[in-house]
Amino acid sequence: MCGVIGIFGKNDVVHELYASLISLQHRGQDSAGIVTYNTTFHLKKGNGLVNKVFNEKNLARLKGNIGIGQTRYPTIGPGGVEDAQPFIVNAPFGIAMAHNGNVTNYSELRDELTKKCYRQLTSYSDVEVILNVFADEMSMQPLHDFSFETLIKTVSGVMERVEGSYSVVGMIANIGMFAFRDPYGIKPLCLGKKDNSYIVASESVILDHLEYDFMRDIVPGEVIFIDTKRKLHSKIINAKCAHPCIFEWVYFARPDSIIDKIEVYEARLRLGEKLGKTCLAAKIKPDVIVPIPDSGRGAAMAIAKALGVEQKEGLIKNYYIGRTFIMSKQSVRKNSVRQKLNPVKSVIKGKNVLLIDDSIVRGTTAKELVSIIRKAGAKKVYYAVTCPPLRYPCVYGIDMMTRGEFVARNRNLNEIKKKIGADALIYQTLSDMCSAVRGSNLNQKFCTACFTGEYPTGLDKRDILKLEKERIKIQKLDKEKGI
Ligand code: SF4
Repeated sequence: MCGVIGIFGKNDVVHELYASLISLQHRGQDSAGIVTYNTTFHLKKGNGLVNKVFNEKNLARLKGNIGIGQTRYPTIGPGGVEDAQPFIVNAPFGIAMAHNGNVTNYSELRDELTKKCYRQLTSYSDVEVILNVFADEMSMQPLHDFSFETLIKTVSGVMERVEGSYSVVGMIANIGMFAFRDPYGIKPLCLGKKDNSYIVASESVILDHLEYDFMRDIVPGEVIFIDTKRKLHSKIINAKCAHPCIFEWVYFARPDSIIDKIEVYEARLRLGEKLGKTCLAAKIKPDVIVPIPDSGRGAAMAIAKALGVEQKEGLIKNYYIGRTFIMSKQSVRKNSVRQKLNPVKSVIKGKNVLLIDDSIVRGTTAKELVSIIRKAGAKKVYYAVTCPPLRYPCVYGIDMMTRGEFVARNRNLNEIKKKIGADALIYQTLSDMCSAVRGSNLNQKFCTACFTGEYPTGLDKRDILKLEKERIKIQKLDKEKGI
C-alpha cells in the first residue's frame, strides 16, 4: 500500500504535490518523494515521513508545472533510501514514474532486464522494474512522432509483461503526464480536474483538499495521457474483471475517500451493521462498545446501534506515533501499541467491554489491547473484527507476505481467542464483508485473496510458495543489514 499523485498544473505544482503527500501519509510512512519537470527533472526523495524528507529549501528547487510524488510503504526490497520513489530513466526519453502495488513476477523481470535488455537497475523497488519495462517497450516504437498511440503500445507491452498489482503515475519530459491501472484494478487511482489542470491520485480525498473536481476512477487496464496542449486521452487496453483490494474499504483508505464509486465511510458503517447482527446472534452482552481508533470507529457506531449499547472513546490515540501495521518490525510494533493507545479508565472499569477492530493480522496488537483493557479494570473483554480471519499472504503490496505471520493460520476461532486473551471473539463472515462493502454496487467483485487464497491474477499455490520464499530471503537480508 503506497500513495501516488500526479499533477499537470498551470504554475509550479510542488506545493500541491507536497500537500497531497501529507494527505497520503496514511498510505505509507517509509519514504516520500517528488519529481517535477520544467526544462529538466528536479527530484527529491528520502526515507521517513513527508515532513521529514521535505523542507522549504528543497521544495523551492522543485520547479515545474508538472510533477509526480509518492509515499512508500515497503513491500519488496530492504527499504533502503535507494528504493524510495519516484524513479527516472533517460532513454528513450526522460521518463519519471511512481507506483502503488507489487509486481509478482519481479525476479523474472529483473533478470530479463539486466541479462537480456542490458539495463542497469539501482534498487530493489518494483517500480524501477516497471519503469524499465516501460522504457524498453517504448524504445521498440517509432519515436520520431510521439503520439497517444505510442503510449498505448508501450503500456500494452507493460501490461503483457508485468504481473501483479500496479497503479502507476508518470511523466515524459516535454511530452506529458500519464497514468495507468493494472488489468484487475487491484489498487485505486482516480482522476480530477480544476480549470485546465489535471490531477491523478490514489484517493479522492486529495482532490477535495486541493479543490479539484472529481472526474472519475481510472478503470482497470486503462491508460490516460495528458499531452502538452492539456488534451486528455484515454483508452482501456487490457481490462479483466475488476477486483479492487477489499482492504481499502475495511482499513487502508481514509473514511472520507470514495473508491470505485463506493464511499469508504458508508462501507464501514455497513460493515458495522452486519457485524452487529453477528454479535447479537452470538449473544454478546457488552456494557460499552469501544472502537480501536481510527478505522474501527464507523463500524463501532453501527454495532452500538444494533446492540442498543453506548459507544464510548475508551482508547485514546497518540497521533504522533507511526501506524503499527505499517511498522515493518514485530518488536517495534509491539512496543508502540502501549505508547499509541491509552485506556480511559472511567469508561472501562467494571464494564464488559466490546472492542471493535478492523482486522487481526499477527495478533500482537489485539493481545496487547486486550491486556491493556483488562488492566484498566474491565470485567470482560470481547473482541469483534470487521473482516474474516486473515490466512493467506498478500502478494499485491501489503506487508503480510508469508503465511507464518498470521495468528489465524492453523488456528481455529477458539485458539485465536485464547491466543489474544479475549473472553469472546467474533469475526465478520466473508459474505457479510463483501456485501457490506459492495452496498448497492451489486456486481462489484473484490480481491479477497488474503481471506480465501484465491488470487485474482491467477497465482496458484506454487507461485505463492515461491513468492513467500523470496520474501523470507529478503526478510533475512533485512535482518543481516539491521533494517
Ligand atoms: S490479498 Fe488482501 S490485502 Fe492483498 S490486495 Fe487482496 S484483499 Fe487486498
